[in-house]
Amino acid sequence: MADLRNCRRCGRLFNYIGGNAICSTCKDEDEVDFQKVKKYLYDNPGASISEVASSLNISIEKIRKFLKEERLEIIGDEGLPVLECEKCQKPINTGRFCDACSRDLATGFSTVARDIEREHINSRNSGENDSIRLRYLSKNLDIPNKHKKGFRK
Ligand SMILES: [Zn+2]
Ligand SMILES: [Zn+2]
Repeated sequence: MADLRNCRRCGRLFNYIGGNAICSTCKDEDEVDFQKVKKYLYDNPGASISEVASSLNISIEKIRKFLKEERLEIIGDEGLPVLECEKCQKPINTGRFCDACSRDLATGFSTVARDIEREHINSRNSGENDSIRLRYLSKNLDIPNKHKKGFRK
């Protein structure tokens, strides 16, 4: 039986197959945006979140989503944390949980975590992100190795 739902983003009805309640059109859009962010960060290493967001006309919320998906990470430790561990609220640089909580979760709280995320995703305000720097996170991208600690001007 098809599980039809309204896309959380555009409201269109679509065939829900699990994960975020977002239709494939919106998912594709995210992918296009992610490629833009990736390219921008490649050309402008160490760009701040707000810089990336305004240059590319992408919402800070969406960039945060990429962070949560561990496709981007924050480098440096200046400024306010953009992400918090969803369990203990400790500031983190990428993903959704701190190391300790990830370990806990690996032992079996992942269903709960998914529900938390659903409420969490729209509950944050944007703002003072000027000093938070981003780095494109990829295990297989060919990044020059001399800057091992990440990009920074
Ligand atoms: Zn949609
Ligand atoms: Zn934690």
